[in-house]
Amino acid sequence: MADQQKRDYYEVLGIAKTASEEEIKKAYRKLAKKYHPDANPGDKEAEAKFKEASEAYAVLSDPEKRQQYDTYGFAAFDGTGGFGGFDFNGGGFEDIFGDIFGGMFGGGRSARSNGPMKGQNVRTSVRITFLEAVFGVDKEITLNLKDPCPTCNGSGAKPGTSPKMCPKCSGKGQVVYTQQSFFGTVRNVQTCPDCSGSGQIIEEKCTECGGSGYISSRKTIQVTIPAGIDNGQSIRIREKGEPGVNGGPRGDLLVEVLVQDHPSFVRQDTNIYSTVRISFAIAALGGSVAVDTVDGKVVCEVRPGTQTDTRLRLKGKGVPSLRNKNIRGDHFITWVVDVPTKLSREARDLLRRFDEASGDSLHTAGRIDGEEAPKENKRKKFWEK
Ligand SMILES: [Zn+2]
Ligand SMILES: [Zn+2]
Repeated sequence: MADQQKRDYYEVLGIAKTASEEEIKKAYRKLAKKYHPDANPGDKEAEAKFKEASEAYAVLSDPEKRQQYDTYGFAAFDGTGGFGGFDFNGGGFEDIFGDIFGGMFGGGRSARSNGPMKGQNVRTSVRITFLEAVFGVDKEITLNLKDPCPTCNGSGAKPGTSPKMCPKCSGKGQVVYTQQSFFGTVRNVQTCPDCSGSGQIIEEKCTECGGSGYISSRKTIQVTIPAGIDNGQSIRIREKGEPGVNGGPRGDLLVEVLVQDHPSFVRQDTNIYSTVRISFAIAALGGSVAVDTVDGKVVCEVRPGTQTDTRLRLKGKGVPSLRNKNIRGDHFITWVVDVPTKLSREARDLLRRFDEASGDSLHTAGRIDGEEAPKENKRKKFWEK
């Protein structure tokens, strides 16, 4: 799928770059009907055309992917990034094909062939802390995974016996019904009901796996979570999903990363935000304050006369970029000036003297033009309350 001579998705569907969602859907329906493998059995060219159209549709029908494609072209879906969030080992369109087959034609993949097929993808999730997401972490995930049964080598048949070819579908795994209708002959392909699409009938089942050909066991898998991963992004681990069918490769394991909230840091993309309370003496006079960052304490200078909600940017103290962990976002500190609610007698006396010393100059800031300055006795009353 990563070949070099891919045609432009818009060209594939024969639509303009400005096409509406409805137009995209219509164009795809038309091509899919024409080239669908069920309508063109054994026709490799039709199959390729069908895949090409399906891939184009998978991207262009998703507004987010369409935008990525418009911006970056095919590069949007190569390697890391792009398709379906963070895709650790490069993209794959299998899921989307599955969705389209399932949605439009029913029956899913099993109705198509009994040749080698990639196994199903397995989805799981892992919980990590805020700091683990920032710096990356190795995690072990334990889950139940299917393996081919060692007793019957995945055939499902009792050792010494072997599965027989399904007589209903002659081993094809699918049956074709033709019906005469008002519109002409309708050809309908369905998964063989006798063998469920495997093309084989097992007369004596393997006792180890009950004829399924698989056994499940607890497996521990090492997952390397890269620095900069964000909540909800997934890591694809190739061929750690369900076993393939008829010699096909295993499906993939998709691990969704769930990042716990941090008590004081909030993340947005690669930037981190936090609020730090400072006393109003420091806000007024200026001073040094040690603040928490993901790299530990950093001493910051508070400028004299700092107002509440003033922001300070700590360059490069944010989250590393997934694409390049040497590029980091910033950490934004918002100073919040603490107004004390409990004062000692001494502190209160000092503040009163401070208020007197600063005179009316402090009170002009909030006054509306033309309003008279507060009377001295009014202020006294306020402090005496
Ligand atoms: Zn078995
Ligand atoms: Zn059959």
